[in-house]
Amino acid sequence: MSQDLRDLVRQEFEAAYGTTPIGVWSSPGRANLIGEHTDYNEGFVLPFGIDRRTFAAVGVRDDTRIRVGSTFSDEVAEIDIAELSPEAVDGWAAYPLGVAWALGQLGHADLAAVPGVDIMLESDVPVGAGLSSSAAIEGAVAIALAELWRLDLTRVELARVGRKAENDFVGAPTGIMDQMASLLGRDDAAVFIDCRSEEAEAVDLGLAENDLAILVIDTQVEHQHASGGYRERRASCEAGAAALGVASLRDVTVDDLPRAQQLLDDVTFRRVRHVVTENQRVLDTVATLASEGPTAIGELLDASHRSMRDDFEISVPELDLAVETAQENGAIGARMTGGGFGGSAIALVHRDLVSRLQVAVDGAFAEHGFAQPVTFTVTPSAGARRES
Ligand code: ADP
Ligand code: MG
Repeated sequence: MSQDLRDLVRQEFEAAYGTTPIGVWSSPGRANLIGEHTDYNEGFVLPFGIDRRTFAAVGVRDDTRIRVGSTFSDEVAEIDIAELSPEAVDGWAAYPLGVAWALGQLGHADLAAVPGVDIMLESDVPVGAGLSSSAAIEGAVAIALAELWRLDLTRVELARVGRKAENDFVGAPTGIMDQMASLLGRDDAAVFIDCRSEEAEAVDLGLAENDLAILVIDTQVEHQHASGGYRERRASCEAGAAALGVASLRDVTVDDLPRAQQLLDDVTFRRVRHVVTENQRVLDTVATLASEGPTAIGELLDASHRSMRDDFEISVPELDLAVETAQENGAIGARMTGGGFGGSAIALVHRDLVSRLQVAVDGAFAEHGFAQPVTFTVTPSAGARRES
């Protein structure tokens, strides 16, 4: 599939612009293995790049304009590099054009001196399914422009460029996790990120040698509360940190929880307990992967789900049903993933059990009168790269 998209995006580039691109670059979507609502608390997350990617075919122009097209839309956006500003661009084109702008804003590129470019995008990352199609675009465009504009940037710097584009050009207040996972992924590895220091390292997952798969169960539920609930949870975490006299919940450990329980009201305490125990579960997952391998992390995934369901209260019945059905049908572990109030769950499962699990989840959803979920496996895959 990916091979096809790589060739397809070249053809689409040639059809749209009437020239051949200099190259094709790609970057993956991502899923989060564990570490939810820990990023904005300066804690730990463990996402991985997936085997669904966004491809960017890019060519250099002899003027200072940027054009960007995508099979996502009929429209080709076009602007002079000097005119790039958050006010000047809206819609999907803000993601790729925001990357060019952010390279200038962060002092990596002199936008008055770089040549114009033509960009064509093609992707098999589902949009809005919690797999970060936005970071996949940012990663592909960032790595392409860095090479064509001859900028010597690390992967972490490119991730910051992507986040700046998303935060300040698109206007979506997200952390660094998605871009780090998309840029730093490796085959059969996750990316362990310390969101305080923004240091990241690849952690071997060992799924292939253990014949394991990760099944995504997209409940197709999109809750209206998602953004309000996210803001509210974030505010609770900030209130909890302030009441405990720390800069962020990163500074609270499991041993501090008894004291926190005495100081905080019940709801704030449970929000704090989720974040504190979730940080510990990420650390325990990294340690367990190294010492015992992936078959031993199931209970950590299950505990993460219980914590989000009972303490952070961001699950919904469809997510709980997906997780329980997976657990009852042979999954090693399962949890909801992403911001909550809908979206997807993931299950770690032996390859031979994937179909059985898919059938069981479909059946359970039908029995409960829920709309059919969409299920598919994802394979931890390499981060941004030049394809051709
Ligand atoms: P996600 O969870 O998938 O990252 P976001 O809302 O953060 O969801 O980003 C989705 C947006 O990214 C889309 O609404 C669109 O503007 C843009 N996008 C995603 N994929 C593409 C694509 N292939 N081409 C152009 N724009 C895209
Ligand atoms: Mg996104």
